[in-house]
Amino acid sequence: MPPVLTGLTELHRHLDGSLRPDTLHQLRAAAGFPPVSTPRFRPGMGLTAALQCFTHTLEALQTPAALRRVAAECCEDAIAEGIGHLELRFAPQLHTFGAVGDVVDCVLEGVAGRAGIILCGLYGESPALLEALVEAARDRSGVVGLDLAGGPLPDHRYGLVDYAAAYTEAGRIGLGRTVHAGEGRPPNEIVQAVEVLGADRIGHGLTVLDSERAVALLVERGVVIEACPTSNWHVGLLDAPDEHPLARWLEVGLSVAVCTDNTLMSAVDLPVELARIGAEPGTEPWDRLQAGARRGWFLRGPARPRASGGVEDGLPTAQ
Ligand SMILES: [Zn+2]
Repeated sequence: MPPVLTGLTELHRHLDGSLRPDTLHQLRAAAGFPPVSTPRFRPGMGLTAALQCFTHTLEALQTPAALRRVAAECCEDAIAEGIGHLELRFAPQLHTFGAVGDVVDCVLEGVAGRAGIILCGLYGESPALLEALVEAARDRSGVVGLDLAGGPLPDHRYGLVDYAAAYTEAGRIGLGRTVHAGEGRPPNEIVQAVEVLGADRIGHGLTVLDSERAVALLVERGVVIEACPTSNWHVGLLDAPDEHPLARWLEVGLSVAVCTDNTLMSAVDLPVELARIGAEPGTEPWDRLQAGARRGWFLRGPARPRASGGVEDGLPTAQ
């Protein structure tokens, strides 16, 4: 009998990297920006060059209507992929048409309860900015998590550990906590993300096997790694998506969710991402990846219940 799928889980998808190409071009034209070729990551391009691709999408996302439209389309696309639980992330401070709370409201209106929203601080930003994101999340239950995205640079005044107060408050008000860490950088960053920021999930975590301490910490605390093989390949951390070490991660007891990162930039969707790493429905690795993904769900509420049996289906409801 074929396996019965109860809906895929997508935990790590950036709104501003997951526009439809046609929408991007229409919004840029409407905003008066010159045409550009569709921004795509190229294998081996490096993280810094990859991050520059977002300039073209962010230019198109500077009105409430544009942001609402793209948030809605991200949900429609996810549903078409067979995703039953979507968490969509973005950095409100990069959309400058309004106050952070107003910008967040536009995205919440666009998703209309079909996804949980994760707010992204960016490496190097003022800790006060991350604290403002947490404040915006406080009374908006559609916001389910806090993230630290981008990557650290030598000239940054602030580093990961400087965001401890914001992350502590995020945990206190019931937000899930995730951090882009170990994305080709030493595994101590993963350890710090968990020990100092209280991360429930780690974005990428590609170097985790370089540190027994990091592996033990993640296994002990049940931290879920959001693995993004195609993205890692594109930024030059892997020679091919199927060289991702996630099979080894599962062997050592880590919880793993396979994610796309950016469907536009990487020209990928979740079924393709899963196929690229050889995950077949009905196999043990598939079941373990789906269970790991469900374990990582950020569900806002006093008890922050964690799904472990996979009984939930469908998208989170509006609150
Ligand atoms: Zn990411």
